Amino acid sequence: MIECKQMEKLIPQFLDDDLDNQDLSDFLDHIDNCPECKEELTIQFLVRVGMQRLEDGNTFNLAKELERELTEAKKKMHRRKTLVLISYVLEITVAALFALCLLLAIAL
Ligand SMILES: [Zn+2]
Repeated sequence: MIECKQMEKLIPQFLDDDLDNQDLSDFLDHIDNCPECKEELTIQFLVRVGMQRLEDGNTFNLAKELERELTEAKKKMHRRKTLVLISYVLEITVAALFALCLLLAIAL
């Protein structure tokens, strides 16, 4: 289980969309289960995005935007996991076919 201290370091990377699969997965799991880190993320998100929005004069609905950000990250995570799974299955399939060819070559 990932610690809150490590989590805090990942928040800026998450906001920069700069986490690898494993970190992103740990991060999202942790955020779902840890209200303190969720709050810290919310604050950092509001500070970062809020500053930009103040310049644009559009501070509207930031909390909702964070929710959307998290949902997007989860979807992305899910897609990445699916891709990893597919490539894994393909590798096994190729290996199995190769083994089958070998067997046939020996048997024939
Ligand atoms: Zn935490």
